[in-house]
Amino acid sequence: MQSTRQQQKNAWAKEDRKKNPARYRQYEVTYQTKMYEAGICVKCGKNPATTTSGDGGNGGKRIKFCWPCRVAYNNRKNQARLVLKQEVLAHYGPNGVLCCCWEGCTVVDPDMLSIDHVNNGGNIERRTTSYSGGMSYYAKLKRDGYPQGFQTLCHNHQWKKEILKRRAEYNQRSSTCLLASFTDLGSPESA
Ligand SMILES: [Zn+2]
Ligand SMILES: [Zn+2]
Repeated sequence: MQSTRQQQKNAWAKEDRKKNPARYRQYEVTYQTKMYEAGICVKCGKNPATTTSGDGGNGGKRIKFCWPCRVAYNNRKNQARLVLKQEVLAHYGPNGVLCCCWEGCTVVDPDMLSIDHVNNGGNIERRTTSYSGGMSYYAKLKRDGYPQGFQTLCHNHQWKKEILKRRAEYNQRSSTCLLASFTDLGSPESA
């Protein structure tokens, strides 16, 4: 149990931190640089640092954490991601429920679900914006207040939708070609 004196000290430090964010950021950077140079985990400040961010992050450029701290960090990050993903998928699910929107489909596993553009604008958006999909996209949808035009689909039904679209396009094209060749041969209508 902390003494009242210690509690007061902590509360003061918290306030001070809010007032001077830049100074505290500088403390952090100094501390981290010192740890990097000494090869000590920047999280616990005790164990030798052995893992790069590549063991579950991006690039793996810097050895930063010891293994237990890395695992704890990854778990926390993955948990936060899963919560966000489930929230967004549920919002775009049938009646706000975490499930695939395809009629009769019962897939509820977040690993098997993703967000679909109802009007197939996904490719254009990927080409014209920096959002490539994935977690940053879920975050963006939430930040933008859940815009219209999206639905939750399982991966099988994403593909099924694509097949139906391609088939319809093919049928459309082939029927136009057929019509054109009939006209060339002198169909009764053109005679
Ligand atoms: Zn550590
Ligand atoms: Zn489905």
